[in-house]
Amino acid sequence: MPEFETISSKMKILVTGGAGYIGSHVVKALGEAGYEVLTYDNLSTGNKWSVLYGELIVADLSDEETLKKTIVKFKPAAIMHFAASIVVPESVRTPLKYYQNNTVNTLNLLGTMMACGARNFIFSSTAAVYGNAEKMPVGENAPMSPVNPYGSSKMMAEKILRDMHLADNDFNYVSLRYFNVAGADGGCRIGQAYKESTHLITRALKTAKGEFEKLQIFGTDYPTPDGTCIRDYIHVDDIANAHILALKYLLDKGKSEVFNCGYGHGYSVREVIAAAKKVTGIDFKVEETGRREGDPSILIADNTKIKQKLNWQPKYDDLEYIIKTAWKWENSYREKYS
Ligand code: UDP
Repeated sequence: MPEFETISSKMKILVTGGAGYIGSHVVKALGEAGYEVLTYDNLSTGNKWSVLYGELIVADLSDEETLKKTIVKFKPAAIMHFAASIVVPESVRTPLKYYQNNTVNTLNLLGTMMACGARNFIFSSTAAVYGNAEKMPVGENAPMSPVNPYGSSKMMAEKILRDMHLADNDFNYVSLRYFNVAGADGGCRIGQAYKESTHLITRALKTAKGEFEKLQIFGTDYPTPDGTCIRDYIHVDDIANAHILALKYLLDKGKSEVFNCGYGHGYSVREVIAAAKKVTGIDFKVEETGRREGDPSILIADNTKIKQKLNWQPKYDDLEYIIKTAWKWENSYREKYS
């Protein structure tokens, strides 16, 4: 039986940050699965056109009155919270922005949600909470020991969630710790559209397009086989599907859990660059330079738990496919939407 037939058409999901990169792919997945979606986004980095399903409320999370009205009127069965700042080097330069957007705004959202009687919460967390973990692949039980303000701001929100659940068993959350999310919708309708992208794959593709003169490799002296950092790159549609499974789990009265979202293997910066050159067919210029502050050397997910408990089965575990979808998107979205 198709998935959507099992879902009540009345099941309403509120998505903060639904106009952003990951949020918009989850809104798409929710819409396709038959949920009623409402996006709440201040459009600081998101775009109206990326909300493919449901209505969009343009407002800030610090606007408690609008937030409260929205929750009271919409009565969501669950809230998915994507609205956040996510750039590691920026977090090192402007930590207060990160604690405000990622910790304080989450705290306010949770307070408002509890006051309105909503109890199911899905949180966008990050592998950055682990910092330089002792064991790789890293499991959810590894200590949280972030090495940058971005990771710390998310860790604090996770701690708040854990304490809330301990204090009130009716409040349940799933925290999904994303590894390096990349790629775009297979149908090329949505993708990453930040004004300034610092992420490796996007940066490499923009360099291939000629938007940058060269791609810099930040650090070649890490304790990895080729000296560059290793990350677990995961396609955004696999991340979106993990949210649908997490939601079903919560709506099925599942208790609070934390899950890693990654494929369980990684690629070095040099390997990603080689794949980007292969996919684009362009031998763009690369320059080796010093380390970027706040970068752990290796981040790879132990994804045993999400596979077992949510039956998550990744479909796009293929670096070239990830880069191909991002490349197609990179070459079309400006023409489509600017
Ligand atoms: N990186 C790089 N050059 C760039 C952008 C990123 O060498 O122009 C490296 C970065 O130092 C890190 C890896 O690529 O080791 C992934 O960085 P990204 O910003 O994509 O994601 P993060 O892991 O910081 O969330």
